[in-house]
Amino acid sequence: MAAFLALNTGAKMPIVGLGTWKSPPGKVASAVKVAIDLGYRHIDCAHVYQNEKEVGEALQEKLQAATVKRQDLFIVSKLWCTYHDKSLVREACKTTLGDLKLDYLDLYLIHWPTGFKAGKDLFPLDGTGNVIPSNTDFLDTWTAMEELVDEGLVKAIGVSNFNHFQIERILDKPGLKHKPAVNQIECHPYLTQEKLVQYCRTKDIVVTAYSPLGSPDRPWAKPEDPSLLEDPRIKAIATKHNKTTAQVLIRFLMQRNLVVIPKSVTPERIAENFQVFDFELSPGDMSILLSYNKDWRVCALLSGAQHKDYPFNAEF
Ligand code: NDP
Repeated sequence: MAAFLALNTGAKMPIVGLGTWKSPPGKVASAVKVAIDLGYRHIDCAHVYQNEKEVGEALQEKLQAATVKRQDLFIVSKLWCTYHDKSLVREACKTTLGDLKLDYLDLYLIHWPTGFKAGKDLFPLDGTGNVIPSNTDFLDTWTAMEELVDEGLVKAIGVSNFNHFQIERILDKPGLKHKPAVNQIECHPYLTQEKLVQYCRTKDIVVTAYSPLGSPDRPWAKPEDPSLLEDPRIKAIATKHNKTTAQVLIRFLMQRNLVVIPKSVTPERIAENFQVFDFELSPGDMSILLSYNKDWRVCALLSGAQHKDYPFNAEF
């Protein structure tokens, strides 16, 4: 299996990357360095993870030591919801570039379709726990994203957590200059996303699968929630292949032609999650894993459920 997928810009995107959400500032730099030493070339970042400065220190160290060249890295970041106003997009991108100590990003995504009230608070809530929306339209945000490409600050732009109607709105935008290259969405055997993946494929949009292991460290996890890593049926498939459950979960997505970004700050797991190029799931394994779908979401953004652009009311 090739280690890259081609984007509609012509760039090559490494199919396994390191996730960094919840990776604490004191641990994320060493996780990034370990990953690069192991051969990872793709790091998934975001302003809202509040650790881009430490990721940047690790990248800087590896670039200065010539362990890796900038052109061989694929660095992704995301525009947070409080920066959807056209006038704030460039400043947000510049902040991320400064934190990551880079001249350009390989890919910059609109993190969610939902714009939030601008300001210091990353999650501005009203008295009832609902997010306070901005009066922005993501089509205008997209225009500002296009300008980042034209200025050379980012090589490609895309979206995250957009449903197919929302992607279609961008594709139909009059005067569209740059198509979305990627839609980053939650995807694993309990949320297989077959229709949205198929839709993106027909539009030449690469899909990145987030929370591929079911995000066991998500802050809102409850003991009664389902656990992919502990699912005995998935464990049995792993045992058959002499692999771990995590490796099967990652490989399952790779074989669907998705990019996968497992997060870990544990060196042994960072290594384990990259040892996924030396085995193959059978068509039977793949259809069994697909059959476990139950539309269960790690990231449902419930505080945004009343937002005009909440993405998860549509079927896909
Ligand atoms: P993952 O599904 O990647 O799970 C991460 C958790 O699994 C951590 O607790 C980690 O522990 C543990 N883990 C990692 N590898 C193994 C292993 N081999 N065996 C057992 N446990 C393991 O969850 P995330 O939600 O973090 O998703 C991955 C990335 O996707 C994020 O970090 C982020 O970059 C991106 N993302 C994007 C979103 C978006 O809205 N666009 C939303 C959510 C995620 P430990 O670190 O302690 O080793």
